[in-house]
Amino acid sequence: MEKIPSNIPYKTYLNEHDLPKAWYNIRVDMKKKGIDINPLLNPGTMQPVTLDELSHIFCTELAKQELDNTNQYIEIPGEVQDFYKMYRPSPVVRAYCLEKVLGTPAKIYYKFEGNNTSGSHKLNSAIAQAYYAKAQGITNITTETGAGQWGTALSMACGYFGLDLLVYMVRCSAQSKPMRKTLMETYGATVIESPSTTTKVGQAMLDASPDNYTGSLGTAISEAVEVAVTKPNTRYELGSVLNQVLLHQTIIGIESKLALDSIDEYPDEVIGCIGGGSNFGGLIAEYMHDKLDGKGNAHFIAVEPESCPSCTKGEFRYDFCDTGKVTPLAEMYTLGYDFMPAPTHAGGLRYHGMSPIISKLIKEGYVDDVRAVDQVSVFAAAEQFARCEGILPAPESAHAIKVAIDEALKCKESSETKTILFGLTGTGYFDLYAYDKFNKHTLTGSN
Ligand SMILES: *Cc1c(COP(=O)(O)O)cnc(C)c1O
Repeated sequence: MEKIPSNIPYKTYLNEHDLPKAWYNIRVDMKKKGIDINPLLNPGTMQPVTLDELSHIFCTELAKQELDNTNQYIEIPGEVQDFYKMYRPSPVVRAYCLEKVLGTPAKIYYKFEGNNTSGSHKLNSAIAQAYYAKAQGITNITTETGAGQWGTALSMACGYFGLDLLVYMVRCSAQSKPMRKTLMETYGATVIESPSTTTKVGQAMLDASPDNYTGSLGTAISEAVEVAVTKPNTRYELGSVLNQVLLHQTIIGIESKLALDSIDEYPDEVIGCIGGGSNFGGLIAEYMHDKLDGKGNAHFIAVEPESCPSCTKGEFRYDFCDTGKVTPLAEMYTLGYDFMPAPTHAGGLRYHGMSPIISKLIKEGYVDDVRAVDQVSVFAAAEQFARCEGILPAPESAHAIKVAIDEALKCKESSETKTILFGLTGTGYFDLYAYDKFNKHTLTGSN
Protein backbone atom coordinates (compact mmCIF):
# COMPACT_ATOMS: atom_id res chain seq x y z
CA MET A 1 0.00 0.00 0.00
CA GLU A 2 1.01 3.58 -0.68
CA LYS A 3 2.67 5.41 2.19
CA ILE A 4 0.57 7.93 4.07
CA PRO A 5 1.88 11.41 3.24
CA SER A 6 3.58 12.82 6.33
CA ASN A 7 1.62 16.07 6.16
CA ILE A 8 -1.67 14.24 6.76
CA PRO A 9 -2.70 14.05 10.40
CA TYR A 10 -3.82 10.50 11.02
CA LYS A 11 -5.18 10.94 14.50
CA THR A 12 -6.23 14.28 15.90
CA TYR A 13 -5.93 14.18 19.67
CA LEU A 14 -7.04 16.96 21.92
CA ASN A 15 -5.13 17.73 25.08
CA GLU A 16 -6.53 16.92 28.47
CA HIS A 17 -7.11 20.61 29.14
CA ASP A 18 -9.31 20.76 26.01
CA LEU A 19 -11.74 18.35 27.65
CA PRO A 20 -15.17 20.05 27.48
CA LYS A 21 -16.33 21.53 30.79
CA ALA A 22 -20.03 21.61 29.86
CA TRP A 23 -22.54 19.56 27.88
CA TYR A 24 -24.62 21.23 25.18
CA ASN A 25 -28.41 21.26 25.62
CA ILE A 26 -29.68 21.35 22.03
CA ARG A 27 -33.29 21.78 23.14
CA VAL A 28 -32.63 25.44 23.87
CA ASP A 29 -31.72 26.16 20.26
CA MET A 30 -34.47 23.90 18.95
CA LYS A 31 -36.98 25.85 21.03
CA LYS A 32 -35.69 29.14 19.60
CA LYS A 33 -36.62 27.75 16.18
CA GLY A 34 -40.05 26.73 17.43
CA ILE A 35 -39.25 23.02 17.34
CA ASP A 36 -39.27 22.10 20.99
CA ILE A 37 -40.28 18.54 21.72
CA ASN A 38 -43.65 17.82 23.29
CA PRO A 39 -43.62 16.81 26.97
CA LEU A 40 -43.53 13.28 28.32
CA LEU A 41 -47.03 12.28 29.42
CA ASN A 42 -48.16 10.42 32.50
CA PRO A 43 -50.15 7.48 31.04
CA GLY A 44 -52.53 7.54 34.01
CA THR A 45 -53.60 11.17 33.63
CA MET A 46 -52.39 11.95 30.08
CA GLN A 47 -50.94 15.16 31.57
CA PRO A 48 -47.29 16.22 31.20
CA VAL A 49 -45.17 14.42 33.77
CA THR A 50 -44.01 16.66 36.59
CA LEU A 51 -40.55 16.87 38.06
CA ASP A 52 -41.93 15.23 41.19
CA GLU A 53 -43.32 12.26 39.26
CA LEU A 54 -40.12 11.78 37.27
CA SER A 55 -38.09 11.97 40.47
CA HIS A 56 -39.58 8.67 41.61
CA ILE A 57 -37.99 6.94 38.61
CA PHE A 58 -34.78 8.96 38.11
CA CYS A 59 -32.69 10.82 40.64
CA THR A 60 -33.75 14.44 40.92
CA GLU A 61 -30.88 16.14 39.11
CA LEU A 62 -31.35 13.84 36.11
CA ALA A 63 -35.11 14.39 36.16
CA LYS A 64 -34.33 18.14 36.02
CA GLN A 65 -32.03 17.64 33.05
CA GLU A 66 -34.73 15.60 31.36
CA LEU A 67 -37.14 18.54 31.49
CA ASP A 68 -34.61 21.34 30.94
CA ASN A 69 -35.08 23.44 27.82
CA THR A 70 -33.66 26.68 29.19
CA ASN A 71 -29.98 26.13 30.07
CA GLN A 72 -27.95 26.02 26.87
CA TYR A 73 -24.79 24.59 28.49
CA ILE A 74 -24.81 22.46 31.63
CA GLU A 75 -21.61 22.21 33.63
CA ILE A 76 -20.00 18.79 33.86
CA PRO A 77 -19.42 18.06 37.57
CA GLY A 78 -15.74 17.98 38.55
CA GLU A 79 -15.82 14.31 39.59
CA VAL A 80 -17.30 13.37 36.21
CA GLN A 81 -14.63 15.42 34.43
CA ASP A 82 -11.99 13.55 36.45
CA PHE A 83 -13.41 10.20 35.37
CA TYR A 84 -13.61 11.39 31.74
CA LYS A 85 -9.89 12.15 31.90
CA MET A 86 -9.17 8.42 32.25
CA TYR A 87 -10.34 7.77 28.67
CA ARG A 88 -11.04 11.13 27.04
CA PRO A 89 -10.71 13.21 24.94
CA SER A 90 -11.18 10.44 22.39
CA PRO A 91 -9.43 10.75 19.02
CA VAL A 92 -10.81 11.79 15.66
CA VAL A 93 -9.11 9.52 13.13
CA ARG A 94 -8.66 10.03 9.40
CA ALA A 95 -9.60 6.71 7.75
CA TYR A 96 -6.83 7.19 5.27
CA CYS A 97 -6.40 3.49 4.48
CA LEU A 98 -10.11 3.03 3.90
CA GLU A 99 -10.07 6.02 1.51
CA LYS A 100 -7.25 4.36 -0.46
CA VAL A 101 -8.97 0.99 -0.59
CA LEU A 102 -12.17 2.63 -1.83
CA GLY A 103 -10.27 4.88 -4.24
CA THR A 104 -12.41 7.81 -3.18
CA PRO A 105 -11.49 11.48 -3.35
CA ALA A 106 -13.61 11.97 -0.19
CA LYS A 107 -11.93 12.51 3.17
CA ILE A 108 -13.28 10.15 5.80
CA TYR A 109 -12.94 10.86 9.51
CA TYR A 110 -14.30 8.89 12.41
CA LYS A 111 -14.72 9.71 16.07
CA PHE A 112 -13.67 6.66 18.03
CA GLU A 113 -15.57 5.94 21.25
CA GLY A 114 -14.46 2.33 21.79
CA ASN A 115 -11.42 3.24 23.84
CA ASN A 116 -12.68 2.10 27.23
CA THR A 117 -13.57 -1.28 28.76
CA SER A 118 -17.32 -0.92 28.11
CA GLY A 119 -16.32 -0.83 24.45
CA SER A 120 -18.68 2.00 23.58
CA HIS A 121 -19.73 5.61 24.09
CA LYS A 122 -22.20 4.52 26.79
CA LEU A 123 -19.72 5.21 29.58
CA ASN A 124 -20.06 8.96 28.88
CA SER A 125 -23.59 8.98 30.26
CA ALA A 126 -23.21 6.09 32.73
CA ILE A 127 -20.63 7.93 34.78
CA ALA A 128 -22.74 11.08 34.87
CA GLN A 129 -25.86 9.19 35.90
CA ALA A 130 -24.06 7.25 38.62
CA TYR A 131 -22.52 10.47 39.92
CA TYR A 132 -25.87 12.24 40.34
CA ALA A 133 -27.36 9.19 42.08
CA LYS A 134 -24.45 9.01 44.48
CA ALA A 135 -24.64 12.75 45.16
CA GLN A 136 -28.30 12.34 46.13
CA GLY A 137 -27.57 9.48 48.51
CA ILE A 138 -29.24 6.81 46.35
CA THR A 139 -27.78 3.36 47.09
CA ASN A 140 -29.36 1.06 44.47
CA ILE A 141 -29.62 1.38 40.71
CA THR A 142 -31.54 -0.76 38.22
CA THR A 143 -31.20 -0.84 34.48
CA GLU A 144 -31.59 -2.99 31.39
CA THR A 145 -29.07 -3.92 28.77
CA GLY A 146 -29.47 -5.27 25.27
CA ALA A 147 -26.13 -5.97 23.69
CA GLY A 148 -24.41 -5.49 27.04
CA GLN A 149 -22.48 -2.30 26.39
CA TRP A 150 -24.76 -0.16 28.52
CA GLY A 151 -24.85 -2.72 31.33
CA THR A 152 -21.07 -2.88 31.29
CA ALA A 153 -20.72 0.89 31.22
CA LEU A 154 -23.10 1.35 34.13
CA SER A 155 -21.40 -1.49 36.04
CA MET A 156 -18.11 0.37 35.67
CA ALA A 157 -19.71 3.63 36.80
CA CYS A 158 -21.56 2.10 39.75
CA GLY A 159 -18.47 0.13 40.73
CA TYR A 160 -16.50 3.39 40.74
CA PHE A 161 -19.01 5.20 42.96
CA GLY A 162 -19.85 2.18 45.15
CA LEU A 163 -23.51 1.84 44.09
CA ASP A 164 -25.39 -1.46 44.02
CA LEU A 165 -26.49 -2.29 40.44
CA LEU A 166 -29.13 -4.74 39.16
CA VAL A 167 -29.09 -5.33 35.38
CA TYR A 168 -31.89 -6.94 33.36
CA MET A 169 -30.20 -8.34 30.29
CA VAL A 170 -32.20 -9.22 27.15
CA ARG A 171 -32.12 -13.02 27.08
CA CYS A 172 -30.97 -13.54 23.47
CA SER A 173 -28.02 -11.18 24.05
CA ALA A 174 -27.17 -12.82 27.38
CA GLN A 175 -26.97 -16.16 25.64
CA SER A 176 -24.99 -14.99 22.62
CA LYS A 177 -22.59 -12.91 24.74
CA PRO A 178 -22.14 -14.72 28.06
CA MET A 179 -18.81 -13.01 28.71
CA ARG A 180 -20.58 -9.66 28.92
CA LYS A 181 -22.29 -10.98 32.02
CA THR A 182 -18.95 -11.95 33.53
CA LEU A 183 -17.62 -8.50 32.77
CA MET A 184 -20.57 -6.81 34.51
CA GLU A 185 -20.22 -9.11 37.51
CA THR A 186 -16.53 -8.31 37.70
CA TYR A 187 -17.48 -4.67 38.23
CA GLY A 188 -19.91 -5.76 40.96
CA ALA A 189 -23.30 -5.84 39.19
CA THR A 190 -26.00 -8.50 39.51
CA VAL A 191 -27.27 -9.67 36.11
CA ILE A 192 -30.68 -11.28 35.48
CA GLU A 193 -31.87 -12.55 32.09
CA SER A 194 -35.06 -10.84 30.90
CA PRO A 195 -37.95 -11.68 30.76
CA SER A 196 -37.59 -13.01 34.30
CA THR A 197 -39.76 -14.22 37.12
CA THR A 198 -38.33 -11.59 39.49
CA THR A 199 -40.87 -8.93 38.46
CA LYS A 200 -44.63 -8.90 37.93
CA VAL A 201 -44.22 -7.53 34.44
CA GLY A 202 -41.62 -10.14 33.48
CA GLN A 203 -43.72 -12.97 34.84
CA ALA A 204 -46.76 -11.69 32.93
CA MET A 205 -44.79 -11.64 29.67
CA LEU A 206 -43.57 -15.18 30.23
CA ASP A 207 -47.13 -16.34 30.98
CA ALA A 208 -48.66 -14.49 28.05
CA SER A 209 -46.28 -15.36 25.27
CA PRO A 210 -43.63 -18.03 25.06
CA ASP A 211 -42.53 -16.30 21.80
CA ASN A 212 -41.29 -13.43 23.89
CA TYR A 213 -38.74 -15.70 25.44
CA THR A 214 -35.75 -14.15 23.61
CA GLY A 215 -36.68 -10.83 25.21
CA SER A 216 -36.41 -7.25 24.05
CA LEU A 217 -35.08 -3.98 25.36
CA GLY A 218 -38.66 -2.80 25.89
CA THR A 219 -39.39 -5.71 28.23
CA ALA A 220 -36.13 -5.40 30.13
CA ILE A 221 -36.85 -1.69 30.70
CA SER A 222 -40.24 -2.55 32.21
CA GLU A 223 -38.63 -4.96 34.64
CA ALA A 224 -35.91 -2.52 35.70
CA VAL A 225 -38.40 0.34 36.19
CA GLU A 226 -40.72 -1.88 38.22
CA VAL A 227 -37.93 -2.68 40.66
CA ALA A 228 -36.80 0.95 40.83
CA VAL A 229 -40.23 2.29 41.79
CA THR A 230 -40.99 -0.46 44.30
CA LYS A 231 -37.67 -0.83 46.15
CA PRO A 232 -36.50 1.79 48.69
CA ASN A 233 -33.67 4.17 47.83
CA THR A 234 -33.53 2.77 44.29
CA ARG A 235 -33.58 4.61 40.98
CA TYR A 236 -33.63 3.52 37.37
CA GLU A 237 -31.07 4.61 34.77
CA LEU A 238 -31.34 4.32 31.00
CA GLY A 239 -28.57 4.23 28.42
CA SER A 240 -30.21 6.01 25.51
CA VAL A 241 -33.39 7.69 24.16
CA LEU A 242 -33.79 10.23 26.99
CA ASN A 243 -32.91 13.91 26.69
CA GLN A 244 -30.46 13.59 29.61
CA VAL A 245 -28.53 10.85 27.81
CA LEU A 246 -28.28 12.87 24.59
CA LEU A 247 -27.09 15.77 26.72
CA HIS A 248 -24.23 13.75 28.24
CA GLN A 249 -23.27 12.34 24.86
CA THR A 250 -22.74 15.82 23.40
CA ILE A 251 -19.19 15.49 24.72
CA ILE A 252 -18.60 13.39 21.58
CA GLY A 253 -19.67 16.15 19.24
CA ILE A 254 -18.07 19.00 21.17
CA GLU A 255 -14.73 17.19 21.07
CA SER A 256 -15.20 16.29 17.38
CA LYS A 257 -15.77 19.89 16.43
CA LEU A 258 -12.77 21.11 18.47
CA ALA A 259 -10.54 18.48 16.86
CA LEU A 260 -11.71 19.10 13.29
CA ASP A 261 -11.59 22.87 13.77
CA SER A 262 -7.96 22.45 14.83
CA ILE A 263 -7.12 21.00 11.40
CA ASP A 264 -9.47 23.37 9.52
CA GLU A 265 -12.00 20.75 8.59
CA TYR A 266 -15.79 21.07 8.55
CA PRO A 267 -17.76 17.96 7.60
CA ASP A 268 -20.10 18.00 4.62
CA GLU A 269 -21.72 14.87 5.96
CA VAL A 270 -22.10 13.57 9.52
CA ILE A 271 -23.18 9.94 9.77
CA GLY A 272 -24.17 7.89 12.80
CA CYS A 273 -26.06 4.73 13.70
CA ILE A 274 -29.27 5.10 15.67
CA GLY A 275 -30.60 2.68 18.28
CA GLY A 276 -32.17 5.08 20.73
CA GLY A 277 -30.36 8.03 19.16
CA SER A 278 -27.83 8.99 21.82
CA ASN A 279 -24.48 8.66 20.04
CA PHE A 280 -25.91 10.27 16.91
CA GLY A 281 -27.45 13.08 18.94
CA GLY A 282 -24.13 13.56 20.69
CA LEU A 283 -22.01 13.44 17.54
CA ILE A 284 -24.09 15.92 15.55
CA ALA A 285 -24.64 18.31 18.49
CA GLU A 286 -22.36 21.24 17.65
CA TYR A 287 -22.84 20.91 13.89
CA MET A 288 -26.60 20.86 14.39
CA HIS A 289 -26.14 23.88 16.67
CA ASP A 290 -24.55 25.65 13.67
CA LYS A 291 -27.37 24.55 11.41
CA LEU A 292 -30.05 25.77 13.83
CA ASP A 293 -28.18 29.10 14.02
CA GLY A 294 -27.96 29.29 10.21
CA LYS A 295 -24.14 29.12 10.45
CA GLY A 296 -23.43 25.72 8.94
CA ASN A 297 -25.04 23.29 6.60
CA ALA A 298 -23.69 19.79 7.26
CA HIS A 299 -25.81 16.98 5.86
CA PHE A 300 -26.89 14.59 8.64
CA ILE A 301 -27.51 10.91 7.95
CA ALA A 302 -28.87 8.52 10.58
CA VAL A 303 -28.59 4.78 9.98
CA GLU A 304 -30.85 2.11 11.43
CA PRO A 305 -31.17 -1.67 10.91
CA GLU A 306 -33.73 -3.00 8.44
CA SER A 307 -34.86 -5.40 11.16
CA CYS A 308 -35.86 -2.56 13.50
CA PRO A 309 -36.70 0.41 11.27
CA SER A 310 -38.20 2.85 13.82
CA CYS A 311 -37.66 5.99 11.74
CA THR A 312 -38.03 4.69 8.18
CA LYS A 313 -41.10 2.52 8.83
CA GLY A 314 -42.42 3.72 12.19
CA GLU A 315 -45.00 6.40 12.97
CA PHE A 316 -44.39 9.74 14.70
CA ARG A 317 -46.71 9.71 17.71
CA TYR A 318 -46.94 9.27 21.45
CA ASP A 319 -45.98 5.79 22.62
CA PHE A 320 -44.67 3.97 25.67
CA CYS A 321 -40.92 3.69 26.02
CA ASP A 322 -41.23 0.08 27.21
CA THR A 323 -43.22 -3.06 26.45
CA GLY A 324 -44.88 -3.39 29.85
CA LYS A 325 -46.37 0.15 29.70
CA VAL A 326 -44.86 1.28 33.00
CA THR A 327 -42.91 4.28 31.63
CA PRO A 328 -44.21 7.72 30.61
CA LEU A 329 -45.38 8.26 27.02
CA ALA A 330 -42.98 10.04 24.67
CA GLU A 331 -43.66 11.60 21.28
CA MET A 332 -41.28 9.90 18.89
CA TYR A 333 -40.89 7.65 15.88
CA THR A 334 -42.03 4.22 16.98
CA LEU A 335 -42.82 0.77 15.66
CA GLY A 336 -45.20 0.28 18.60
CA TYR A 337 -44.31 -0.55 22.18
CA ASP A 338 -45.08 -4.24 21.56
CA PHE A 339 -42.82 -4.55 18.49
CA MET A 340 -40.50 -7.56 18.83
CA PRO A 341 -37.43 -7.10 16.65
CA ALA A 342 -35.74 -10.14 15.14
CA PRO A 343 -32.77 -11.31 17.22
CA THR A 344 -30.14 -9.62 15.03
CA HIS A 345 -26.62 -9.06 16.29
CA ALA A 346 -26.67 -5.29 16.53
CA GLY A 347 -28.37 -5.61 19.91
CA GLY A 348 -27.85 -1.94 20.73
CA LEU A 349 -30.08 -0.95 17.81
CA ARG A 350 -33.01 -3.24 18.62
CA TYR A 351 -35.35 -0.70 20.18
CA HIS A 352 -38.90 0.08 19.00
CA GLY A 353 -38.69 3.85 19.50
CA MET A 354 -36.33 6.77 18.96
CA SER A 355 -35.11 9.68 21.06
CA PRO A 356 -37.76 12.43 21.04
CA ILE A 357 -35.05 14.98 20.17
CA ILE A 358 -33.80 13.00 17.17
CA SER A 359 -37.38 12.14 16.14
CA LYS A 360 -38.27 15.82 16.09
CA LEU A 361 -35.11 16.80 14.17
CA ILE A 362 -35.95 14.14 11.59
CA LYS A 363 -39.60 15.20 11.40
CA GLU A 364 -38.64 18.84 10.87
CA GLY A 365 -36.06 17.98 8.21
CA TYR A 366 -33.00 19.02 10.22
CA VAL A 367 -31.70 15.47 10.02
CA ASP A 368 -31.58 15.18 6.26
CA ASP A 369 -31.71 11.46 5.70
CA VAL A 370 -32.46 8.21 7.53
CA ARG A 371 -31.41 4.93 5.96
CA ALA A 372 -32.21 1.36 6.91
CA VAL A 373 -29.47 -1.15 6.07
CA ASP A 374 -29.43 -4.92 6.17
CA GLN A 375 -27.32 -6.98 8.54
CA VAL A 376 -25.26 -8.86 5.96
CA SER A 377 -24.07 -5.72 4.16
CA VAL A 378 -23.32 -4.19 7.56
CA PHE A 379 -20.96 -7.04 8.44
CA ALA A 380 -19.35 -6.83 5.00
CA ALA A 381 -18.63 -3.15 5.71
CA ALA A 382 -17.35 -4.04 9.19
CA GLU A 383 -14.95 -6.58 7.71
CA GLN A 384 -13.70 -4.19 5.05
CA PHE A 385 -13.12 -1.53 7.69
CA ALA A 386 -11.37 -3.91 10.10
CA ARG A 387 -9.01 -5.18 7.42
CA CYS A 388 -7.74 -1.75 6.43
CA GLU A 389 -8.20 0.40 9.54
CA GLY A 390 -7.34 -2.22 12.14
CA ILE A 391 -10.16 -1.63 14.63
CA LEU A 392 -12.77 -4.38 14.93
CA PRO A 393 -16.02 -2.39 14.97
CA ALA A 394 -19.16 -3.16 16.97
CA PRO A 395 -21.98 -4.32 14.67
CA GLU A 396 -23.95 -1.22 15.71
CA SER A 397 -21.12 1.08 14.65
CA ALA A 398 -20.78 -0.82 11.39
CA HIS A 399 -24.16 0.56 10.32
CA ALA A 400 -22.51 3.97 10.14
CA ILE A 401 -19.45 2.51 8.42
CA LYS A 402 -21.67 0.95 5.75
CA VAL A 403 -23.25 4.28 4.87
CA ALA A 404 -19.94 6.17 5.12
CA ILE A 405 -18.55 3.74 2.55
CA ASP A 406 -21.63 4.16 0.33
CA GLU A 407 -21.23 7.94 0.49
CA ALA A 408 -17.50 7.78 -0.22
CA LEU A 409 -18.17 5.60 -3.26
CA LYS A 410 -20.72 8.13 -4.51
CA CYS A 411 -18.00 10.77 -4.24
CA LYS A 412 -15.77 8.53 -6.34
CA GLU A 413 -18.38 8.41 -9.08
CA SER A 414 -19.02 12.15 -9.02
CA SER A 415 -15.37 13.12 -8.26
CA GLU A 416 -16.50 15.15 -5.26
CA THR A 417 -14.02 15.80 -2.46
CA LYS A 418 -16.48 15.76 0.39
CA THR A 419 -15.47 15.55 4.03
CA ILE A 420 -17.30 12.78 5.83
CA LEU A 421 -17.40 12.33 9.61
CA PHE A 422 -18.91 9.23 11.14
CA GLY A 423 -19.26 7.89 14.66
CA LEU A 424 -17.33 4.72 15.43
CA THR A 425 -19.25 4.05 18.61
CA GLY A 426 -17.55 0.91 19.81
CA THR A 427 -15.56 -2.26 19.37
CA GLY A 428 -16.81 -5.72 18.48
CA TYR A 429 -14.78 -8.05 20.68
CA PHE A 430 -17.92 -9.44 22.28
CA ASP A 431 -19.58 -9.92 18.90
CA LEU A 432 -17.30 -12.64 17.59
CA TYR A 433 -20.17 -15.12 17.54
CA ALA A 434 -21.85 -12.91 14.95
CA TYR A 435 -18.60 -12.36 13.05
CA ASP A 436 -18.13 -16.13 13.02
CA LYS A 437 -21.56 -16.58 11.44
CA PHE A 438 -20.70 -13.94 8.87
CA ASN A 439 -17.40 -15.68 8.09
CA LYS A 440 -19.24 -19.00 7.66
CA HIS A 441 -21.89 -17.37 5.46
CA THR A 442 -24.69 -18.39 7.81
CA LEU A 443 -25.59 -14.84 8.85
CA THR A 444 -28.97 -13.69 7.49
CA GLY A 445 -30.95 -10.46 7.58
CA SER A 446 -32.72 -11.46 10.76
CA ASN A 447 -30.50 -13.93 12.58
C1 LIG B 1 -25.87 1.22 22.38
C2 LIG B 1 -25.00 1.36 21.23
C3 LIG B 1 -25.42 2.02 20.06
C4 LIG B 1 -26.80 2.55 19.87
O1 LIG B 1 -27.30 3.39 20.86
P1 LIG B 1 -27.57 4.93 20.61
O2 LIG B 1 -28.21 5.40 21.84
O3 LIG B 1 -28.45 5.05 19.41
O4 LIG B 1 -26.26 5.55 20.39
C5 LIG B 1 -24.52 2.15 19.03
N1 LIG B 1 -23.27 1.66 19.11
C6 LIG B 1 -22.84 1.01 20.20
C7 LIG B 1 -21.44 0.46 20.21
C8 LIG B 1 -23.68 0.84 21.29
O5 LIG B 1 -23.24 0.21 22.38
